[in-house]
Formats: sequence, structure tokens, C-alpha cells
Amino acid sequence: MKIIHSCAEMRGYSLAARRAGLSLGLVPTMGALHDGHLSLLKTAARHCDNTVMSIFVNPTQFGPQEDFDRYPRRIERDSELAEAAGCGCLFAPSVEDMYPEGYDTYVNVENITDALCGANRTGHFRGVATVVLKLLNIVSPDIAVFGAKDAQQVIVVRRMVRDLHLPVLIIAAPTVREPDGLAMSSRNSYLSSNERAEAPIIYKALTEAQKLYNSGENIAESIKNRIVSILAQSRLLKPEYVEIVDTVRVKPIGKIKVPVLAAAACRTTETGTRLIDNIVLGGSL
Ligand code: AMP
Repeated sequence: MKIIHSCAEMRGYSLAARRAGLSLGLVPTMGALHDGHLSLLKTAARHCDNTVMSIFVNPTQFGPQEDFDRYPRRIERDSELAEAAGCGCLFAPSVEDMYPEGYDTYVNVENITDALCGANRTGHFRGVATVVLKLLNIVSPDIAVFGAKDAQQVIVVRRMVRDLHLPVLIIAAPTVREPDGLAMSSRNSYLSSNERAEAPIIYKALTEAQKLYNSGENIAESIKNRIVSILAQSRLLKPEYVEIVDTVRVKPIGKIKVPVLAAAACRTTETGTRLIDNIVLGGSL
């Protein structure tokens, strides 16, 4: 596996791959890799000849009070895991290369970023859209794979790609979970053992919502109430939001007629860790 740190070298690698007639995939990550990330490499391999995984803890998507400084960084272990999972090239640029002195350009995807994580993390999706556009420009992949765990991110990236006519196909890959249902996340390592024991309640609540929907309930408020009431049983997880939104406008709906996202974010009380999860009712992303 090739390891590249500079944006210029990454461009050269992509150009050479393209000239050799190889299709390229991109899997953007912030590292501290787990099986969720590695599953994206497997998905990418089904759609392209060679996959680039980027590892970049992107400062512009973190708020001033957020965990940028302490976000886990494990590049050596990550490169072993990525290589073993079939990654062709690891792209790990520096902050200085991505955001040089005097950097002034950002991408704002409007409206659909007003809800869910966008409402609770000011500027988060501006940072995400900006870094994803930059990575797409540097790597020029044919496809890019994102995890359904960050469903709003998938919707935002797809909207940016459509609105800006970017020549790339965005693929959403299913959420990979721990055996007890907790969605894998690099932030799970922040959890205290008590919090870790309670954390699967988020997926349990979403699964109950799915059951309610499958039994014929189509009033979003009823489904939301079920999720809220299950989360209320937790001592150490406090909901930041629970929402049922459509997957196009990302707006709350009354009656479920189209695929909807049932999404929840919780904050833990001991370590202040933020956990998110979601399921799609009546369709897929
Ligand atoms: P991150 O490193 O957290 O920015 O995530 C990088 C990519 O991996 C994003 O597209 C995430 O949606 C995806 N991802 C993170 N956790 C999971 C998971 N448990 N299952 C599937 N994809 C995931």
C-alpha cells in the first residue's frame, strides 16, 4: 500500500492511475480505524479497481468546544489495518497542506444542514462539505463511499455533488455495529465502562421504532415518542435530539409516506461523549 502525505503527490498518483485506465474509489475518514471504516473499503472494492483511503482529522468540522485536540490519532495502526483490508493508497495530508496560511474558501450546503447534527454543531457541515470537496478535487475518484451511520453527512455530500456537478458517484454503506448493537465509532473509546454498558440503548430505541413502523404505525410523532421513552430509561445518556425527517429535505414530517430517517444523538453524562445513530424507515439512503 502506498502512503502519501502531500496533496501534490496525491494528485500525481491519481493521474497515473487514471492514465493506466484504473477506476479509483475514495473512502474519507478521520482515522482511528474500526471495522465500520474497513467495511467501506470492501464496499469501494466492489465498485472500482483501486481505493484511496484518506485519514485527516479535519479541524474545520470541529467546533471550538469540541474534541479536535483529543481526537484519537493512530496512523501506524491505521495503515496496517487499511493495508490488510485491501486499501491501495493511504492519503494522510497535514493540516498545513490542506489549509495553508491565508486559507479563505468554504462550501455551504444550505437548508438541509439546519436540522439534526447541523442544528447542534454550528459550522460542522460547512467543514465537512469543504474538506470533502477538497478531497474529491485532490483524488478525483470515480466513486466515494460514506457510512450510513452519518446519514445527514451522506445527504449533504450528495446534495453538494449534485448542486456543483461533481463527476463522482456517492455510495452509502450500511452501519457496522458491535455485537450488542452499538454503532462503531472512533468516539466510543471515550466512553466510561458504565456509559459503554448503557450505550446500546440508542440502537435498541431505534430498533423498537422500526418494529412500531413495521407493525403499521405511520405517525412520525408516535414513533419519535417511542424512541424518546426508551432513551429516558438511560441514566447516563441524555438525548440531544430525536427526529423523524424525510431524507430529501431533512425536515420533520407528520405521516410517513416516503423513506424517513429516524435519527438520534445523545450526550453521555460522565465523559460528555456525543453518540449518534439512525435507521431509515421505508427505504434506504
Ligand atoms: P469518521 O472517521 O468518523 O469521520 O468516519 C469516516 C467514514 O466512516 C464516514 O463515512 C462514516 O460515516 C463512516 N463510518 C463511521 N462509523 C461507521 C460505522 N459504524 N459503520 C459504517 N460506516 C461508518
